[in-house]
Amino acid sequence: MAKLGGKVMVTGGAGYIGSHAVLALLDAGYEVVVVDNLVTGFDWAVDPRATLVEANVADDERVRATIRDHGVAAIVHFAGSVVVPESVTDPLKYYRNNTAATRSLIESAVSEGVRHFIFSSTAATYGTPAKVPVQEGDPTVPINPYGMSKLMSEAMLRDVAAAHPMNFAALRYFNVAGADPKGRSGQSTVGATHLIKIAVEAATGKRDSVAIFGTDFDTADGTGVRDYIHVSDLAAAHVAALAVLVARPADSHILNAGYGRGFSVNQVLDAVDRVTNQTIERRYAGRRAGDPAELIADNSAILATLDWRPERDRLDTIVEDALAWERKLGEMGR
Ligand code: UDP
Repeated sequence: MAKLGGKVMVTGGAGYIGSHAVLALLDAGYEVVVVDNLVTGFDWAVDPRATLVEANVADDERVRATIRDHGVAAIVHFAGSVVVPESVTDPLKYYRNNTAATRSLIESAVSEGVRHFIFSSTAATYGTPAKVPVQEGDPTVPINPYGMSKLMSEAMLRDVAAAHPMNFAALRYFNVAGADPKGRSGQSTVGATHLIKIAVEAATGKRDSVAIFGTDFDTADGTGVRDYIHVSDLAAAHVAALAVLVARPADSHILNAGYGRGFSVNQVLDAVDRVTNQTIERRYAGRRAGDPAELIADNSAILATLDWRPERDRLDTIVEDALAWERKLGEMGR
């Protein structure tokens, strides 16, 4: 582990991806303080080895005091709003919780001398890519306020890193799924809209069927194709990014976080059927507004930049881990 010289502050560490990053950082030997307002996150999702500060990332006083009190040397920023359709109906919520809150957090980081910042960005910054696999240098033309709110945050980080002694890594996530293989965390959000979560809910009897949004895309089987990445591999990428930021303080990075391969909706549902040895009912529905046919990462940059390799990239592994967590949630009465 590179010498960081302080703790890692994880905002949104009580949420889905954040809680897995907390586990990965702790397992790698870092000390972690979580800042989360627990609006969508859960305190029980935060590993007890971490300290939990219940606060909003835009609360400058609390955030700065936390940075000082804990000797925070790096920030990994997950906190924010993540529901794409909601960003269309309530854009100002996204520009507040994502863009403005991130601006405030960056300012706290700079004024307290935090040297490293890792940001959860998204493939939604690309909008509808002209070609797949999509590369980091391709045009970023978000088609919803969610993607724009994250792209604006990337722009702030780029400008701030050029002006102040802070470097950053922005990871553009593709479709995150699965759960901690040790069963310590998973996707716990009620009312989730993501395909693999919905499919394992159906497989565990929480839903009757899965709607397939569009069967007339220009793809091999007509359904949408996505690059599904295991949340534990994604969490590990943040740990690897931190090591690179510490080792090379002059360099910042914007990196796609995906595997570079895609699966269709039907292929995902086939995997769920295979893993559960049952048949989920599929309903054919119309396309969802704004869904591109295909979204696949060119991941050559992350592979070249970070000491990171996919470990749980088999689709069946992702589904198995998601399913195990869904069953555990059931046992927990959630
Ligand atoms: N999808 C679907 N039924 C669902 C949820 C999603 O057919 O109930 C499709 C969606 O149209 C897309 C893919 O599954 O092609 C992944 O969608 P998801 O919402 O998981 O992530 P997105 O790619 O929109 O971020």
